[in-house]
Amino acid sequence: MYKNLKKVIKKIVPKALIYKNEKFLRSVIALKYKGNTFKCNICEFKLSQFIENERGGRLCPKCGSVSRSRRLWHILKDEVEGKVMLHFSPSLKLSQNIKNSKVKEYITTDYVGEFNANKQLDIENINEPDQYFDCIVCFHILEHIKLDTKAMSELLEY
Ligand SMILES: [Zn+2]
Repeated sequence: MYKNLKKVIKKIVPKALIYKNEKFLRSVIALKYKGNTFKCNICEFKLSQFIENERGGRLCPKCGSVSRSRRLWHILKDEVEGKVMLHFSPSLKLSQNIKNSKVKEYITTDYVGEFNANKQLDIENINEPDQYFDCIVCFHILEHIKLDTKAMSELLEY
């Protein structure tokens, strides 16, 4: 049902309008999935089931988070307090949760402009002071980088 509804919406509604109204659209879709079997740890929505996406992942109907983001938040939520963080290509809701936590400073970056971020850092040549960050979130990024070993050595400097 979700896949077909998504296809129909993508066919008839312009992409910019979908992004602008994503929160509303997800709230409407989430009504069908409301329940008490599971709880999304990112948006706290209680649901009967997660939506299986095209790649077999489990998507929260309310916030759109995938399993890996929920696992990451489960790990990070108790680790961010007082930290200076750098987050590459942050998903929207996970990013909001980190911003709303007791993080000392939170810098988000996206090099290609697919995510909402406040900087556009090149992971192969990060233009920030050395040893500045306490925590760097670089999750599902390195497999897209040509010079991944250079990127990793760059991350090590920060
Ligand atoms: Zn959620």
